[in-house]
Amino acid sequence: MKNLYNALLLKQLYQLKNLGYRYTNEKPYSHEERELLELPNSIQALKKQAQNCHLCSLNKGRNHVVFGEGNPQADIMFIGNVPLEIEDNAGAIFLGRGGEMLTAMIEKVLKLSREQVYITNLLKCHPLLTKEVHESEFHTCKAYLFKEIELVNPKIIITLGERAFHYLTNDFTDLKEIRGRVIKKDGYSIVPTYHPNFLLKNPSFKREVFLDLKKVQKLSTL
Ligand code: SF4
Repeated sequence: MKNLYNALLLKQLYQLKNLGYRYTNEKPYSHEERELLELPNSIQALKKQAQNCHLCSLNKGRNHVVFGEGNPQADIMFIGNVPLEIEDNAGAIFLGRGGEMLTAMIEKVLKLSREQVYITNLLKCHPLLTKEVHESEFHTCKAYLFKEIELVNPKIIITLGERAFHYLTNDFTDLKEIRGRVIKKDGYSIVPTYHPNFLLKNPSFKREVFLDLKKVQKLSTL
């Protein structure tokens, strides 16, 4: 799903489903309109487009779009979940104690700097007005995530937390069972592990994350 057409189509299908539709024959966009909905082919242009995005209801409460950061040619990409309020206020990703934890994971275990990897989230807007993010919002925003993955083209994707892994792969295996495994998908190696915010509440799981990142370090040198 690398263009907005699919994201908009999905959004419309969710809306119809919520209204009770079981099927529809409607064709929402013409061929010409579809072409206009292609996403740009550079990270900077993609970021600019996301900063003006009104595709889902989360645009109403956000202060800033929190787009991915880091090396646009990185071998290693981290995918988190949803921007926090502190990140929404600053317009920057992975701040606060969770951000410090992620930085420590990158620097101390992978022996890299944050600037050498690419860090992004499933969603680019903080859900300020709603506590529960609707499934359709994750699916709508996926268009940006998938385009980021295509443009950065990392060797290894580390998903942080269950939701990032589930939405990226459509594999709903429990994170406890799948973490630390190397899953090959679309030419990428995906390594699921725990989210830094989870580690803040459950520090006993740090050992598992350490082992997962050691595996990533080994893979990145192959
Ligand atoms: S969350 Fe994603 S799809 Fe929704 S408004 Fe923000 S950038 Fe657009």
